[in-house]
Amino acid sequence: MAKNISTTQDGDEFIVSFKDTHNTIVNAMRRIILDEVPTFAIEDVEVVKNESPLYSETVAHRLGLVPLKTDLKSYNFKESCTCGGVGCALCEVKLTLAQKEEGYVFSGSIKSDDPQIVPADMNIPITKLFPGNELELNLKAVLGRGRVHAKWAPAHTYLKEGDKNEVNLVIESFGQLDSKDIYNNAIDILVEKINELESNL
Ligand SMILES: [Zn+2]
Repeated sequence: MAKNISTTQDGDEFIVSFKDTHNTIVNAMRRIILDEVPTFAIEDVEVVKNESPLYSETVAHRLGLVPLKTDLKSYNFKESCTCGGVGCALCEVKLTLAQKEEGYVFSGSIKSDDPQIVPADMNIPITKLFPGNELELNLKAVLGRGRVHAKWAPAHTYLKEGDKNEVNLVIESFGQLDSKDIYNNAIDILVEKINELESNL
């Protein structure tokens, strides 16, 4: 049988080339990546002190969009965790963000209880502090899926026409997971879904 799928790693991009495959199949993979492959994101922000010029809601929203490096093996989804969704060390990561120095507050100042779950980019500006102002926040991050909120989407991914009868699926990670791992994870999810479908027949 001829090989219909080949892959290339191009810097941060992982490209999967499909030959003689209908675009709808490739697009299904794209949708699974965007909607189903889980990542960590900040979901809970407790404001101890916010003397920055931004509203706490705005600061919380900006923190939600900081990509966090994600370890999929050690954590459960909160809703299906053994704690019954209350929140525990298996489904939540605690982080803090505290700064007294004037100037920009960057994602790199976020401290995590788990060294595996840290900002993927240290240079995202969160807010700014004027002299004498303080910011102190307690944060919780949980696993989630892009179909619930785009902040959990793992990558920028799109279809690109290739050579004759070829279409490329380009996956560019936001930093939570490796681009190739995102693809492999999406395959596992697709297989799981097919099995589920089969067992329901
Ligand atoms: Zn739990």
